[in-house]
Amino acid sequence: MILLDSVTKKYPGDSEPALDNISLHIEPNEFVFLVGKSGAGKSTLMKMITKEESPDSGKIIIGGIDLDYVKKRHIPGYRRRLGVVFQDFKLLPRRTVYENVAFALEIAGMSNKDIRRTVPKVLELVDLANQAKKFPHQLSGGQQQRVSIARSVARQPKILIADEPTANLDKLTTKEIIDLLKKINDFGTTILVTTHNEGIVNNLQKRVVTLKHGKIVDDQKTGGVYKLDEAPVPKRPARMVQTPGHALRPKRRVI
Ligand code: ADP
Repeated sequence: MILLDSVTKKYPGDSEPALDNISLHIEPNEFVFLVGKSGAGKSTLMKMITKEESPDSGKIIIGGIDLDYVKKRHIPGYRRRLGVVFQDFKLLPRRTVYENVAFALEIAGMSNKDIRRTVPKVLELVDLANQAKKFPHQLSGGQQQRVSIARSVARQPKILIADEPTANLDKLTTKEIIDLLKKINDFGTTILVTTHNEGIVNNLQKRVVTLKHGKIVDDQKTGGVYKLDEAPVPKRPARMVQTPGHALRPKRRVI
């Protein structure tokens, strides 16, 4: 579903690569948190997926599409197949909630009839059916983010990526947004989220991938917790020895 194979990216003028030989495979329907300190390479990895940036070397295949073969003029069409959620919502300020979602469908080529059928359902999903006529500035931060999520899932993307979707939200609203992403994941969408929020990562216990200096230093496939460093090298367990007449016992004392 999301496949990065030996991806390296160095921005012009930087001495170190932002991504250093990254390989990552995300299966359909996974929910993955991408964590790491500021500058670790999280946004660059997201930009590889949206094709805002291209790798210097390595292969990227998203939903079966080899990004090497997506020509410049096809990038907008490719991006519309992904759901992308931003920390600053990026809503159209002069359009209502309904129109923000409808507009995304319109540019994706959906007929007016289908738009009229789809928008109310999506607003229902994000619990904003009763705010359809409001403008973004009349909504709370959490509500604006829900419009933004509605807009990105309206086209039923197989993959949703969200770069710090809760960075500008308070604790309670953050939980609402993460619950919503979980619901969307339960409906079958693969989700990749970057975050600095230790609480939500530890709460959800999903897969957690840690980036550090452009490298994947930890990948907890299930029950993941927030970690900014590599997993500690496990202490070598004591070697068991069998002596005649004695049960198996450790060779040396383990403290
Ligand atoms: P994160 O999202 O984890 O904070 P980034 O992907 O934004 O990390 O950055 C990774 C590294 O790449 C950093 O050293 C950063 O300074 C550098 N970088 C990011 N974007 C650019 C850019 N447009 N030009 C030059 N260097 C960049």
